[in-house]
Amino acid sequence: MIIVVKPNSTQEQIDHIVAHIHGMGLRTDVSRGIKRTIIGVIGEEDAVRNAPLAAIPGVEEVVPILKPYKLASREYQAEDSAIDVGFGVKVGGGSLGMIAGPCAIEGREILLEIAKHVKAAGANILRGGAYKPRTSPYSFQGLGEEGLKILREVGDELQMPVVTEVMDPRQVELVDRYTDIFQIGARNMQNFNLLNEVGQTKRAVLLKRGMSATVADLLMSAEYILAGGNKRVILCERGIKSFDSSTRNLLDLSIVPNAKGLSHLPIIVDPSHATGRPDLIPAMALAAVAAGADGVHIEVHSCPEKAMSDGPQALLPGQYAAVMGQMRQIAGLLNRNIPAPHGSTQSGRQ
Ligand code: PEP
Ligand code: MN
Repeated sequence: MIIVVKPNSTQEQIDHIVAHIHGMGLRTDVSRGIKRTIIGVIGEEDAVRNAPLAAIPGVEEVVPILKPYKLASREYQAEDSAIDVGFGVKVGGGSLGMIAGPCAIEGREILLEIAKHVKAAGANILRGGAYKPRTSPYSFQGLGEEGLKILREVGDELQMPVVTEVMDPRQVELVDRYTDIFQIGARNMQNFNLLNEVGQTKRAVLLKRGMSATVADLLMSAEYILAGGNKRVILCERGIKSFDSSTRNLLDLSIVPNAKGLSHLPIIVDPSHATGRPDLIPAMALAAVAAGADGVHIEVHSCPEKAMSDGPQALLPGQYAAVMGQMRQIAGLLNRNIPAPHGSTQSGRQ
């Protein structure tokens, strides 16, 4: 539930309300807006459903949240969240996060080459996996910490925030030293220990939809991170399982307006893993922007036939630049903002 505090309440009154809730064995999330303060009650609501909270001095209104996810819900926060990911880049609230880069970090030179191309095209976040969730244990598993170092160096050199996958709660501390955004992969969307661990950090999280997860499942996973105190969650649609093997997965674009109706969190779309096909990625990327996505995530490689992971779905830098130009036009029509190429001028990591 949400407790709306009366506009002229004193700090003592707010502290008193918070202490009262804590005394009932629940946690609170206090958000101080310009006009009013709202206290989110976190925990099992049954314990307080019949408690006369409206009688506490300073309480204006007690609003139950009916959805199982609370902090992620639109009821909790009406306005869109915009997530600051470092280097002056925001995702959500009208700003698009254009994520691009290779599936895996393979070496410094190749990453720098790809990163320069995607940055010149207008990408504002660089991606690359150092720990790869591969279906086969015999496939390339990523360069590990060496890869993280390379990603950080290239991100800093080009003044781009970076995103990389963290697969295990025990890796969170290490990956946190290098990345601007944690990626939680589709296979780990319901790894609740991992969600709790990144929830304890202050770093932005790109939470990918599990391949059989409903929109409610995705938002419940986001809730784990938010309930840990980390408010910087970006959702990502990357396709779900289907009976049609002509594409790698089935891109569910309706989740974009669907999730936006239910939640204030930004949602981006990954047409690379959703389709697995370079011939389909550009059209789906344009459709994602048209559907209102807060960003698009595309794998790019300068030599896909030599890529160590997901080469067959990588766009060439020229193909990426072409679709980026078209995405910018569509975003413009919808009054949304894809930053101009070479745009990053800002301070750095958070
Ligand atoms: C990836 O981004 O390279 C990846 C493995 O994604 P997903 O978890 O969506 O399969
Ligand atoms: Mn990949």
